[in-house]
Amino acid sequence: MNLYDVYPLNDIEITKANGSNVWDANGQKYLDLYGGHAVISIGHTNPHYVQRLTEQLNKVGFYSNSIKIPLQTQLAEKLGEVSGKKDYQLFLVNSGAEANENALKLASFYNGRKKIIAFSGAFHGRTSLAVAATDNPKIVAPVNETENITFLPFNDEQALADEFAKHGNEIAAVIIEGIQGVGGIKEASKSFLQKIRSLCDEYNAVYIADSVQCGYGRTGQFYSHDWAGVEADIYTMAKGMGNGFPIAGISIAPKFKPWHGQLGTTFGGNHLACAAALAVLEVIEKENLMKNAEEVGTYLIEELKKLEQVKEVRGRGLMIGIELPEELAHVKKDLLFKHFIFTGEAKPNVIRLLPALNLTKAHAEEFLVALKKVLCST
Ligand code: PMP
Repeated sequence: MNLYDVYPLNDIEITKANGSNVWDANGQKYLDLYGGHAVISIGHTNPHYVQRLTEQLNKVGFYSNSIKIPLQTQLAEKLGEVSGKKDYQLFLVNSGAEANENALKLASFYNGRKKIIAFSGAFHGRTSLAVAATDNPKIVAPVNETENITFLPFNDEQALADEFAKHGNEIAAVIIEGIQGVGGIKEASKSFLQKIRSLCDEYNAVYIADSVQCGYGRTGQFYSHDWAGVEADIYTMAKGMGNGFPIAGISIAPKFKPWHGQLGTTFGGNHLACAAALAVLEVIEKENLMKNAEEVGTYLIEELKKLEQVKEVRGRGLMIGIELPEELAHVKKDLLFKHFIFTGEAKPNVIRLLPALNLTKAHAEEFLVALKKVLCST
């Protein structure tokens, strides 16, 4: 059988990984500034993580959700502590798209409406409703799911107010990334997020903060909208949650009352997934990784801003977009050959950095030196 091969892969096979480094099949070392697309939150093969997963695998790897799994309760408690949202409720699933799909579903159960507001440049996943709420010219949605989605310009308060004035009583939910990731690292303004909050309150619509890429401590704060002082009704999370083990979740405000029949999954929140997620939170807390993400990220952003050839530097913490003039798009390839890995998609002239939260200042320096060299030689 052949692979249904839809990914434009770089021709590298990763055969070994440790901390912020990976090695290819030829033994070549790379600095991983991609984190497998923001998934590696605490670094590769972290010893505490490996130990906790191995121990759990030797006890119980999987058993059904229909039998009590105390690890889920422990995870909910720990997540409440680390995220500061102790009164929210956790539902566990397996991927970012599944988390968003369930969040949108919950919204429609809550207010009985269909209409969803999403924004230009948004990415929310590949399942039917999540992909319909995704605005990307290279990604298609099933035709039957698009009719209830309205895309508004990102950060345009007036357009949002106008839409609510016209259709407010039909809007089930507004879904937004605090910083658009696939869209090229674009941050929602504080006043825009505040406007969403107040309009959702006024019209009883549900505010969903897609924190799949920009959440889980990456910006120096736990969820993607924390820095704006705005509280969402539902936060979705995935990527960094399991450091590579598939686990995702939705953190749901107390006003939603769960009942069986609304949400469900076979694999979500299994023993191994919970052990992985608990290990991640323990390391984030013990090693103060949110603070590290903020400090190293701020340093990197400030230094990048000093580079003349760079058109714009966007982002927060360790979620950084470096926009180069169009004619310097090839710099990405040159850097890969100099042994740095970062994300390949988005716009060809945007370098997206999503490294592990324990990236050191020395790693940041290493990248800056290489980037300066490549920029000078072009
Ligand atoms: N939301 C955002 C903001 C994402 O960046 C992604 C993945 N790139 C998703 C949702 C979907 O996550 P998954 O691929 O785990 O389904």
